[in-house]
Amino acid sequence: MSLSADHISRAQAAFLGLAIGDALGATTEFMTPNEIKSRHGVHKAICGGGWLNLKAGFVTDDTEMSLAIADAILASGVWSQKEIADNFVTWMKSKPIDIGSTVRKGIRTYMTKGILGMPRNDWDAGNGAAMRMAPVALYTVGDEALFRRCTLEQAHLTHNHPLSDAGTLCVGEMVQAAILGADRFQLHECTRRLTDEFPNFKFHNYKGNASGYIVDTLQTVFHYLFSTATFEECLIGIVNQGGDADTTGAIAGMIAGAFYGMDAIPKHWKKKLNKQVRHEVTVAGERLIHLSPLATRPQ
Ligand code: MN
Ligand code: MN
Repeated sequence: MSLSADHISRAQAAFLGLAIGDALGATTEFMTPNEIKSRHGVHKAICGGGWLNLKAGFVTDDTEMSLAIADAILASGVWSQKEIADNFVTWMKSKPIDIGSTVRKGIRTYMTKGILGMPRNDWDAGNGAAMRMAPVALYTVGDEALFRRCTLEQAHLTHNHPLSDAGTLCVGEMVQAAILGADRFQLHECTRRLTDEFPNFKFHNYKGNASGYIVDTLQTVFHYLFSTATFEECLIGIVNQGGDADTTGAIAGMIAGAFYGMDAIPKHWKKKLNKQVRHEVTVAGERLIHLSPLATRPQ
C-alpha cells in the first residue's frame, strides 16, 4: 500500500476532528448532562463559554499539545522526544488557558531535572496522553514498532501508567485503522484487543461516567462512537455527556474524523473553528502523513 489522496484527507480529518471536538466540548466541560440540558437544550454549536470562558471557535490544551507534538516533528522531519518536551515547555510558559496537573508535573520535571519520561506512577491514569495522539498516529502509520515507541515516548513525558499506555496505544491504533479504511467491525476489533487485556475498559454497559480517568474517558468515546452513525451525531452525543467533554470530544473527534472522513465533518463546525487553528491542523495533518512510513517506505 502506498499513500493515497484518501489517506491524506482522512489524516487531515483526524486532526481537524480533534480540534472541533475540543472546541465544541469546552463549552460543557465539567457539567452534568442535566445541567447541559437546562442551559443549552442539546449543545451542538461551537459557541465557546464554559468554565474556561473560551471564545467561540478557540481550543484548549488537547489541541495545543497536539500541535506542539506536530510542530516538533515537522520542524526537523524526524522524531525527537526531546524536541517535543522542549515544545511542551514553551507551551507551558505561554500560560495556556488550561493545563492538567499531571501534565504540569511532567513538564516541570523535565524543566528542572532534564528527565525525559516520568517514572511509573499509580496516579497518572488520566487521559492527557491519549488526547494528543493524533500527530503520533499520523506520523507513524505503516510501522507498528515505530508507532509503539513514539506513542510511549510522548505519553511518558507526562503520564506513565499501564492503563494510560494501553488506552493511548488503542486510540492511536483506531485512528490509523480508520485512515487505512477500516470498517466498524475492524474498528471495534481494536477495542476488543484492549478489553481482552484490560477488562475495565469494557463499555457495553455504559454508565455515563465521562471523567478524565482514562478508563471513563475511553468508555465514553467507545460508547458514542459505536452507538451513532455519523461524525455529527457522535460528537453531539459525547459533548452532551459533559464531564471531561473537551477531551472526550477531542479523542472521539480524531477517531470519527478519520473514520467518516473530511466530507462528513459539518461545514458549520469547520467554519466556526478559529481560522488559524483550522489552518494549522489541516496543514499538519497532511505534512505528518507525508512523513509516515506509509508514504516514504519503498514499495
Ligand atoms: Mn482541554
Ligand atoms: Mn479536558
